[in-house]
Amino acid sequence: MNLILLGAPGAGKGTQATMIADRYHIVHISTGDIFRANIKNGTEIGKLAKSYIDKGELVPDEVTVAIVKDRLTWDDCKNGYLLDGFPRNLYQAEELDKFAEIDGVVNINIDFGLLMDRLCGRRVCKECGESYHISTLGGKTTCARCGGELYQRKDDNPETVRSRLDVYTSQTAPLIDYYTKKGVILNFTGTEAPASVLFEEVKTALDRLAK
Ligand code: ADP
Ligand code: ZN
Repeated sequence: MNLILLGAPGAGKGTQATMIADRYHIVHISTGDIFRANIKNGTEIGKLAKSYIDKGELVPDEVTVAIVKDRLTWDDCKNGYLLDGFPRNLYQAEELDKFAEIDGVVNINIDFGLLMDRLCGRRVCKECGESYHISTLGGKTTCARCGGELYQRKDDNPETVRSRLDVYTSQTAPLIDYYTKKGVILNFTGTEAPASVLFEEVKTALDRLAK
């Protein structure tokens, strides 16, 4: 099963992605995670990506598409994969069509009013990537799952969040229509309820798709 996860920044894609990948034994590929790993390791791609990510803009298509195209040739993709954060505009979607066969697009719709607080209060585990919200941490600074140190992403600040949401609206949201026309979209609504509630709905839809 080859899937795409679509949704605004802060919609809860990362959390759903982990649960989907676990349940269906498919590999979770996050372009944001790939860029952050490159930044951490000081690679050329990392240096280039950082200048865009820090402003809340998209990393150039040529770079991003090449990374994903290569990543999908790895052996661990044979069982299927879940693309998280890619494609993010129509050009990337059209390029993806040239080298991938997509079975379903999990689209998480969410009220934008919830997102600023979610993103600016988000803390992420350095080791495993799990996300938390400061309001639920009670001052804890380590990950409940693996003990890793929590940090705040540099792009989770009000100004950068605003531009990420603008980019989502102008460039990424049109993909909902693109995949609806292809007949592969699965629509969900994100809420303030725990991620496990949404996952129940996602599971029902994907179980049906997997058959
Ligand atoms: P979020 O969905 O919370 O914005 P991501 O981790 O998916 O976070 O992305 C972080 C940043 O990485 C984006 O704002 C963008 O700069 C860059 N990025 C990630 N995926 C892509 C992509 N497919 N195309 C271009 N830039 C990307
Ligand atoms: Zn962790």
